[in-house]
Amino acid sequence: MIRRAIYPGSFDPVTNGHLDVVDRARKLFDEVIVAVAHNDQKHPLFTLEERLDFLRSTIGKLDKVEIAPLNGLLVNFAVARQATAVIRGLRAVSDFEFEFQMALMNRKLEATVETIFLMPKEEYTYLSSRIVKEIARLGGEVGEFLPAPVAQALRAKLNSERSGQ
Ligand code: ADP
Repeated sequence: MIRRAIYPGSFDPVTNGHLDVVDRARKLFDEVIVAVAHNDQKHPLFTLEERLDFLRSTIGKLDKVEIAPLNGLLVNFAVARQATAVIRGLRAVSDFEFEFQMALMNRKLEATVETIFLMPKEEYTYLSSRIVKEIARLGGEVGEFLPAPVAQALRAKLNSERSGQ
């Protein structure tokens, strides 16, 4: 039986922290599906297609990795794709409460899907898509936190937002 995991998120945009988690998950599973949620309530900076493209161009060709859009309920997607695990990254205690609630609710909805938490390298524990966007918006350098094409796209997006205002 193939051991398949889903790594869901907004990936708005993908950071080196996300990539660290994918790397760790690949060592534990035969296949990792990186599933990108629409997340309209979060008002993402990048469209779903842009977020998928960033992932495709950085890790899309890696062995054992698939990139897919995530529609509907996560556990339904997991069952449909015959995945037995959901991967989430845990950076700090501050992530814990929300993640704990989600994991238990997902287990209640679908008992066959287990949530697995992976801790990134220490240097990524303070990294989030939100903080990277904030730094870039304020003119800071974000090159060391993002894959190079993503950093470039972020600068371009913020420049076009600025010139459109
Ligand atoms: P969501 O909106 O679902 O939280 P994110 O794209 O922000 O989506 O994050 C997806 C997953 O990756 C979450 O489990 C989050 O905790 C994890 N994650 C985000 N940044 C990092 C990081 N720097 N190190 C480890 N895990 C991370």
